[in-house]
Amino acid sequence: MTFLFFLLLTSTAFAENLSDFCVSSLKALPGKTKNGELAAACAKAAQLESCVSEKGVRIFHYDRAARATEKEPKKILVFALVHGDEFPSGSVARSWIERLGLIEPRNSWRVVPILNPDGLKNKTRMNANGVDVNRNFPTKDWDEKALKYWEKETKKDPRRYPGKSAASEKETICALAHIDDFQPDLILSIHTPYGVLDFDGPKIAPPNFPRIPWKNLGNYPGSLGRYMWVDKSKPTLTIELHGKGVVEKLEEFDRLQDITGDIAIKSEKILRSKDKKK
Ligand SMILES: [Zn+2]
Repeated sequence: MTFLFFLLLTSTAFAENLSDFCVSSLKALPGKTKNGELAAACAKAAQLESCVSEKGVRIFHYDRAARATEKEPKKILVFALVHGDEFPSGSVARSWIERLGLIEPRNSWRVVPILNPDGLKNKTRMNANGVDVNRNFPTKDWDEKALKYWEKETKKDPRRYPGKSAASEKETICALAHIDDFQPDLILSIHTPYGVLDFDGPKIAPPNFPRIPWKNLGNYPGSLGRYMWVDKSKPTLTIELHGKGVVEKLEEFDRLQDITGDIAIKSEKILRSKDKKK
């Protein structure tokens, strides 16, 4: 009995609390952090029950509600580091988390800055099982097409392996739990290195952000864009940052955060007016 109590005591003492874990994980990403803001944001870090990686690492998130004066704020769900070797995506997510604590946002935000912590640790696109999480979403066509597409179109590229079945991976299950729990109006996923804003959603005018042009790359069996937009009619914006290196001027991306907010508001308006016409 005493021994069991001792075990319990030591195991909880050794597990870093979630706020400290949030700070240390995000600080390890490239680029400058605002120390005070990061600690303040991470003090609010939370975790859904099903959000643990294949290797047992906690997948945390940060919530920021819209300002109280906003009558119908849109809900924006952000995933970064879906691919573990795309470090700048995590740096931008971290910068946005820090900023969200300083502003009174129009929209409600949930940010999951490190969806694939095992991939991040191993510096791999895939998770610990060698699965591309962004091909593992349970799209309607998954059973019929995902593995065939991988075999024929990618010539079994190991970086694009969709897994043995849809939603087989814990990171995918965590992302799905967030979609279910948060009920977003728009999903944003941050990637590298193609340098484009790729939107799966209703037709809207391209935003003015010349650094990263508006270009549709299409979606794939098992991808988040196909799962959310094609199957569920929820707009999905993919930000593909340039290159694989460090994002030098993180503050430039503040504007991109506001643009994402504009896109969420515009898209929802269009979709709602279409709904009324039906
Ligand atoms: Zn990616």
